Amino acid sequence: MIWNPEMESMPRERLGALQLKRLQQTARRVYERVPFYRQAFDKHGVKPADIRTLEDLRRLPFTRKADFRETYPTGLFAVPMNQVLRIHASSGTTGKPIIAGYTRADLSMWAETCARCLASAGAQPGDTFQNAYGYGLFTGGLGFHSGGELLGLTVIPVSGGNTERQILLIQDLKPKILTCTPSYALTIAETIRTMAIEAASLGLKAAVLGAEPWTEEMRKEIEAKLCLKAVNIYGLTEVIGPGVSCECVEVQNGAHVYEDHFYPEVIDPNTGEVLPPGTRGELVFTSLTKEALPVLRYRTGDLASLDASPCGCGRTSLRMSRIVGRTDDMLIIRGVNVFPSQIETALMRIPELSPHYQLVVTREKTLDELEVRVEVSPEFFRQIGGEILVDETHQADHAVHELRRRIGERLRGALNLNTTVTLLSPGGAPRSEGGKLKRVVDKRKL
Ligand code: ADP
Ligand code: ZN
Repeated sequence: MIWNPEMESMPRERLGALQLKRLQQTARRVYERVPFYRQAFDKHGVKPADIRTLEDLRRLPFTRKADFRETYPTGLFAVPMNQVLRIHASSGTTGKPIIAGYTRADLSMWAETCARCLASAGAQPGDTFQNAYGYGLFTGGLGFHSGGELLGLTVIPVSGGNTERQILLIQDLKPKILTCTPSYALTIAETIRTMAIEAASLGLKAAVLGAEPWTEEMRKEIEAKLCLKAVNIYGLTEVIGPGVSCECVEVQNGAHVYEDHFYPEVIDPNTGEVLPPGTRGELVFTSLTKEALPVLRYRTGDLASLDASPCGCGRTSLRMSRIVGRTDDMLIIRGVNVFPSQIETALMRIPELSPHYQLVVTREKTLDELEVRVEVSPEFFRQIGGEILVDETHQADHAVHELRRRIGERLRGALNLNTTVTLLSPGGAPRSEGGKLKRVVDKRKL
C-alpha cells in the first residue's frame, strides 16, 4: 500500500518544482532566523534569492556534525523554544549528543513519513504493530509510535529489551509488523529458538529494520529465522529520525527517499563534488519542510549511492542503496580501509558460522591487528563435540583449525588483509539488548 500516492508517486518533473519552492522557503527561513546559516551564506556570497533552480543548492555550503556541536544545544533551531513541542537526541556515540527539536507541524510531517514506511512494509490500517525501538530520547520509539497511530495500527509500545516479554506479546497479541534494529531482530530470533517456539507460528508478516548498518546476507538470515519479510529503513536525528527513506516490501531493493521532505545528494567526501546516481559517496540531506530544525546540505557521514531507475512498486522517488558504513566507522588497518559490513558479508556466507561476531582492533608496537571473533553455528558446535572452543587454546584442534583457515582465506579475499580469526562458542559474542549493537572494539583509541 502507498500511504500518500500523490506525494510518493508524483511525476518527477512536478516533484522537482515542489522541491524548488520548498527549498527557497527553507533557505529564506534559515537566513532570516538562524545566525549560523546567515553567516555561512554571507561567507559564501550567496543570498536566498540566488536559488533559482535546484542546481543552485550546490552554491550553498555544507553543514556538518561539528556545526551542531559548536552551536550546542539549540543554536541551529529556527523557532523560539515555546514553539518546540518535543526534543530528541542522537545516541551520542562520540561526544555531546545532537539535540533535535520539533514543532507541531514537524511532528505531523514525521508521523506521516513513518506511516509511509510502515505502509511500504505492507502494514494496513487495523493491523497490530509491535514497536521494539527504544522509547525516550532516541528517535526510533516515538517516531514509529506516531507513524503507527496515524496509519491506524494498534501500536504495542514495548520499546527495546526484555526479550522474553517481547515474544510473549508477539504470541498473545499477534502483531503483523515488528520494528527494531536488525541486531535486536537477531536477538529475538535467537530467543525464540531457545524457547523452542516455531517462528512461523508467530504470524509476523514484516519487520522494518534500521538505525544501524546491516547487510543483504543478514536480511536473509533474519527473514528465514523470523519467517517474515524485512525492509530497510534509514534516518538520523539531525534530519528527522527514522523515516527519511524506506524500502518497499514488493521490491526490497533500495530505500525510497521521501523527497518531498528531504532532498538527497551524494558527494565525494574528499572534494565535496556532487556525484551522479549510481556512484557511491557520502549522503547529504537538505530538509524541505522542517520548521524547528531545518538542515541545509547536512553531511551525514553515511556512505551510499542513489538509484534513479523506476521501481516496480509505483513510487517515483530516488532510492538509496544500503549504507556501506559511516565515514567514522571505517577501520584503517595497516593502511587498508575496511568496513565492518564487508566482514559481515564474508562471514555470513560461511555456513558453519552464526551471525554473531565482534571485531577487535589492537596495535602491537606499530602494527595494527584485526581480530575477527565469530561464533560457530550451534550445529557445528555439536559436531565438534561442544567443548572444544571453551578454552581458547583449543583453537588449534583439527576441524576448528581448518575452519579458521578457511575464514581467514575468505577475509583475505574480501579485504586484502590478514586477520586473526577466533572462533567462539554459541553465545560468546555480544548481543543487542534492544538497541544498536556495537560490534567494533578499537583498542587503538583507548
Ligand atoms: P547516532 O549517530 O548517535 O547513532 P542516530 O540515532 O541519529 O544517532 O543514528 C543515525 C545514524 O544511524 C545514521 O547516520 C546512520 O549512520 C545509522 N543508520 C540509520 N539507519 C540505518 C540503516 N538503515 N542502515 C545503516 N545505518 C543506518
Ligand atoms: Zn519500490
